[in-house]
Amino acid sequence: MKLSKMHIKTLREVPNEAEIASHILLLRTGMIRKLVSGVYGFMPLGWRSVRKIEEIVREEMDATGAQEIHMSAVQPAELWEESGRWYAYGPELWRLKDRNGRDFCLGPTHEEIFTDVIRNDVSSYRQLPMNLYQIQTKYRDEARPRFGLMRSREFIMKDAYSFDKDFAGLDESYRTMYDAYDRIFTRCGLTFRPVEADTGAIGGSNSHEFTALAEVGESEIAYCEHCAMAATTERAACVDAPAQTGAEMLPMEKVHTPDAKTIEEVAGCLGMEAKDTIKALLFVTYDEETNEENGYVAAFIRGDRELNMIKLVNALGIPEHTIAFADEDEIGAATGCVGGFTGPCGLHDCKIVVDSELPGLANLCAGANQKDYHVRNVNYGRDYEGDIVTDLKVLQAGDPCPICGAPVKHARGIEVGQVFKLGTKYSEAMGANYIDENQKEQPIVMGCYGIGVTRTLAAVVEQHHDENGIIWPMSVAPYHVIITLVKPDDAVQAAVAEKIYQALAAAKVEVLLDDRKERPGVKFKDADLLGIPVRITVGKLAGEEKVEYKLRRDAQKSEISVSEAIAKAIEIVNQEK
Ligand code: ATP
Ligand code: MG
Repeated sequence: MKLSKMHIKTLREVPNEAEIASHILLLRTGMIRKLVSGVYGFMPLGWRSVRKIEEIVREEMDATGAQEIHMSAVQPAELWEESGRWYAYGPELWRLKDRNGRDFCLGPTHEEIFTDVIRNDVSSYRQLPMNLYQIQTKYRDEARPRFGLMRSREFIMKDAYSFDKDFAGLDESYRTMYDAYDRIFTRCGLTFRPVEADTGAIGGSNSHEFTALAEVGESEIAYCEHCAMAATTERAACVDAPAQTGAEMLPMEKVHTPDAKTIEEVAGCLGMEAKDTIKALLFVTYDEETNEENGYVAAFIRGDRELNMIKLVNALGIPEHTIAFADEDEIGAATGCVGGFTGPCGLHDCKIVVDSELPGLANLCAGANQKDYHVRNVNYGRDYEGDIVTDLKVLQAGDPCPICGAPVKHARGIEVGQVFKLGTKYSEAMGANYIDENQKEQPIVMGCYGIGVTRTLAAVVEQHHDENGIIWPMSVAPYHVIITLVKPDDAVQAAVAEKIYQALAAAKVEVLLDDRKERPGVKFKDADLLGIPVRITVGKLAGEEKVEYKLRRDAQKSEISVSEAIAKAIEIVNQEK
């Protein structure tokens, strides 16, 4: 392709709305184009890289025996009602009506649709196992679309669904997908970690996220350097502080703590440590269908801990979007809580959820449910009880590893893929059964496996750039080689550039020729910005059949003969593409 003919518009300036490198660079290179918040289009270079990622995904999926299909993005509400997700999915589900008032949504994911395909088409164990996938545009009306392709409202996803006779089969299908994901993200040039993950709205029992490591990532992961533990901090189990067995329960004592509302203020006021206090967090819950308030929840954890919302909603068995922080003063009359002075003793008409380590700890300090007062020596069992007692903690860096006890580390990353064991959740809800070897009807056992194709593109840029622009790994670069023709008007230079261009194209190297009538400085800047892996500069040495050869990722350049440059380019492209 000749750049003079290509539809491309690069930007010198950093666009206002972009905060992170990948968003800035994808906009500056003109690879993506924003239409409205969270909705992007792809220009020629951007689309080529998307297709490269899709092709890697396709090759690796096909290699496992999975079969590609393509279902519609428009999905009828009835299927979502069957699975129970029409309301449970919440406001992210992009709903619409047709002219007759019938409800539809734009698919955020396709469990229902694929389960429907299978229940119609599969009846016998002989047809299993099977894995179907698609690469398709998904819609999620995200609360906070941001970072460009990272969290958008329209994006491309590969979603695959496995169907097995039994759980042993699912384990095998899951492993196959897990290994394929490993190869896919490796081929895309990402540094990533598979980590244990929460299963969220999809349900099921077992899941891993593939996290591309990056400071700007929205996923926080905890991992252990002494054992194999690696999990999202949402999911990671926490070790309770050792129980103080045998400690004497002292009598409760009300203490005056004027204006001491935060844990730090209370601890400071009473000369104790945050870990000797109980932190209260109050919530309102809403009906998932009508959105009306339907109850209150009080969660209690040790004062120095952080509440893990995912663990809380899982304990309550409700979707995340149906719970929100309460204004304690507003719900005070109903529950007995008092803003800043809420404690577990004497609360009423709300569900009390207590972190699992509190019952083992003696003589803690908690709010007295009275303005300006706390109580000392609060003990579980004697002074309060929980409706639910479970692990509610966020695993912090330095906390003991839940497997081996060594201090855990934290890292941030971008979730580029996730694999789930769904089990029979959808097949049972929607009646997807098969007849087994003994003529008995059984539910099909399912798994589902997603890759954010467009998010992966952003993650690659996030990991591969410098201050001058993108540094594409060969495998997903929009083109492999850029020939920078310094003086297009110079007949000798133009002829040499054309010769290289033809030779590379003949060797199936994807090559861009910058033949624009621009100053050399502009061309070099654009070549760096675009990040094409190999640059061959045809300039004043063209008459001697010499060019400058440079890899985008290396600082050094070399002056070599035209034939050598062609050979080197072909070699590196074939090695790395
Ligand atoms: P997140 O936790 O980031 O919202 P998710 O867990 O809801 O993502 P999945 O349902 O697992 O996402 O979807 C599969 C993949 O699709 C994700 O691993 C991610 O790569 C991609 N993806 C999900 N939401 C978005 C989005 N809003 N924009 C771009 N890609 C997305
Ligand atoms: Mg996910």
